[in-house]
Amino acid sequence: MIELGFLSITNLSYFERLFIRIVFFFTIFNKNTTMKQLLLQFLIIIYLFTISISDCKAEKIIIDSKMTFEEAIAGSPAPKEIIENIEIVDIDYYSFDGKIHRGQIVIHKELVNDIKQVFKLMKSVKFPIQKVIPIVRYQWSDSLSMLDNNTSAFNYRTVEGTKRLSNHATGRAIDINPFLNPYRGRTGKISPKGATYNTKVRGTLAKNDTIVKEFLKLGWKWGGNWKTIKDWHHFEKK
Ligand SMILES: [Zn+2]
Repeated sequence: MIELGFLSITNLSYFERLFIRIVFFFTIFNKNTTMKQLLLQFLIIIYLFTISISDCKAEKIIIDSKMTFEEAIAGSPAPKEIIENIEIVDIDYYSFDGKIHRGQIVIHKELVNDIKQVFKLMKSVKFPIQKVIPIVRYQWSDSLSMLDNNTSAFNYRTVEGTKRLSNHATGRAIDINPFLNPYRGRTGKISPKGATYNTKVRGTLAKNDTIVKEFLKLGWKWGGNWKTIKDWHHFEKK
């Protein structure tokens, strides 16, 4: 059968294949088959073939990051005892193009399950995440990562404007879509520069929404609940 070989290279479902075979048998072995019917059969096959190809494309995961652990911590001044307690985790999410992407997060070992759980929820409710790339890609610059709306966790650094070590330094904090969920200081200054906080925009975190609630349920603290300053992208768990 000609169509068997032809169909085996496509991604058609069982019923689509069955349907084509039935049509095929009726038309080929029927003496009264007209050119019109043959043409119709041909068009159906082309149509199903096109659908299967587009389905294939839609299901394809876009890889945003695929580093080894060594690559993800390269150049970090973090001491050995911190490096020993962090790991790199593959994360799947819907980005703003509506497609599933795969990125990576470097996080404290004790928080891996929490992070997997929250990202699973985000994926199921289609909460969009721009990208999740270890911050080494931004030369360890928090500002560049935030400007790029990149979600990240581990970064051996101090709290902006202080000498105090950040919770990111031990992989115990994560920043989500930081351009859409910026930081607002005491003076009202927003960073990253040019960002605005509007809870109506998709990918923005708001009080009482599912994602924030899930983090809080797991024992994390959200920077959006802080009184004087607001760090809407920031979650931490000590
Ligand atoms: Zn943060």
